[in-house]
Amino acid sequence: MHNNPVDYSNHIAIIGGGISGLTLGCVLKNAKIPVIIFEKSNDVSDYGAGISISPNGIRVLKYLDVYNEIISVSANPKEAIYSSIKKKIASFNVNVVTTSRKALYEVLYNKFKDMGGEILFNHELLKADVENLKLHFSNNNSYKVRHIAACDGIKSICRHSIELQTDPEYSGYSIWRAIFNKKQKNIRTYLGPNHHIVTYPISASKISFVAAIKTDKKYRESWRIAGTLNELKEDLVLSDINHFSFITEKTPLYKWGIYIRPMIKNIQYKNLTLLGDAAHPIVPFIGQGGCLAMEDAFIFGNLVIKFNSDISSAQSSYEKLRMHRIKMISKLSLRQGYLNHLSNPLVVLIRNLVMKYFSFLAIRSIKSNVWDYDPQKDI
Ligand SMILES: Cc1cc2nc3c(=O)[nH]c(=O)nc-3n(C[C@H](O)[C@H](O)[C@H](O)COP(=O)(O)OP(=O)(O)OC[C@H]3O[C@@H](n4cnc5c(N)ncnc54)[C@H](O)[C@@H]3O)c2cc1C
Repeated sequence: MHNNPVDYSNHIAIIGGGISGLTLGCVLKNAKIPVIIFEKSNDVSDYGAGISISPNGIRVLKYLDVYNEIISVSANPKEAIYSSIKKKIASFNVNVVTTSRKALYEVLYNKFKDMGGEILFNHELLKADVENLKLHFSNNNSYKVRHIAACDGIKSICRHSIELQTDPEYSGYSIWRAIFNKKQKNIRTYLGPNHHIVTYPISASKISFVAAIKTDKKYRESWRIAGTLNELKEDLVLSDINHFSFITEKTPLYKWGIYIRPMIKNIQYKNLTLLGDAAHPIVPFIGQGGCLAMEDAFIFGNLVIKFNSDISSAQSSYEKLRMHRIKMISKLSLRQGYLNHLSNPLVVLIRNLVMKYFSFLAIRSIKSNVWDYDPQKDI
């Protein structure tokens, strides 16, 4: 039995204090629009993982005025190098911020708090009543709110208000990840048969290691599933693990199964708007999930401001602006997953030759379609 709802009926309620939730909180709070964040954890989450933020995401961080804070604790690699374990295939110039999730969450959280933003931890949403605008939480608290912004991530509860619950399908890919004390300047991607490994700096003294593998061992979808070096070696059976001698028995290693959820037709419904992974869970092979989450939040928040808090106009405009981009990036991510995990030696050879001589074409396309996007111009 839930307690009587607390009256927050002039507040936009954000479910989830992750990347999209904190970004939206900052935009709304900065415009003095009443907003409250409900987060299920007892603190801003720290999954001990890295994240790379491409120029489209960097633009949002600049608009939020947190770029200087984030860059001071992150890395800014200028070159991405692709190779097989034995030799270089191609390299190109990039301008990305690579950092730890912890640093990104903390910078956004501090910005929100410094503006007087309200966040309630230990609030796990159980049910969102989108007709009556009531929220029910596992701690028995209930709230009456003005609008619900679903930023509750890949396993969104709110999404079920729009879509019948279907089980996610295993993509055939799983990911190993770890953080090491090590210095590195650039982003390095090793393409092996059925797997690829990416390492990048996340600060002056630490790197993120991510190994994506094609496998039918359906690992669970969670940031917290630990694995062992032996299991990692087994999974990377054809790769030269010795190349990564910095990985030892003592290294905390985590594994994550990648699952696919169908794209939904609508990302807003009645008094509910979906943002980030809740709106569009995508596979992580072009590192865009977090960047899209920031774009969504920046755009939706600014539309609420533009339409003078007429939320329903903001919602339809948001959906119109976002759907095409979300679908395009979702397709690109799936295609990259396929290309990164080829195993037939002839096809691999062709892919590597194309990368060597024509990678500038692919980069030009990613740059113009993905990285050059400026959400401010769309609003
Ligand atoms: C292995 C891997 C590597 C990735 N690398 C990159 C990368 O390099 N670059 C990039 O841009 N993206 C990357 N992504 C994608 C990126 O992590 C996500 O797209 C991004 O975190 C989505 O942001 P979000 O705000 O939607 O969700 P999240 O950041 O996951 O936040 C969701 C929040 O909601 C809270 N929550 C969940 N359920 C409830 C509930 N019921 N009640 C209350 N609170 C709740 C959670 O605790 C969490 O704080 C990667 C993903 C994976 C899996």
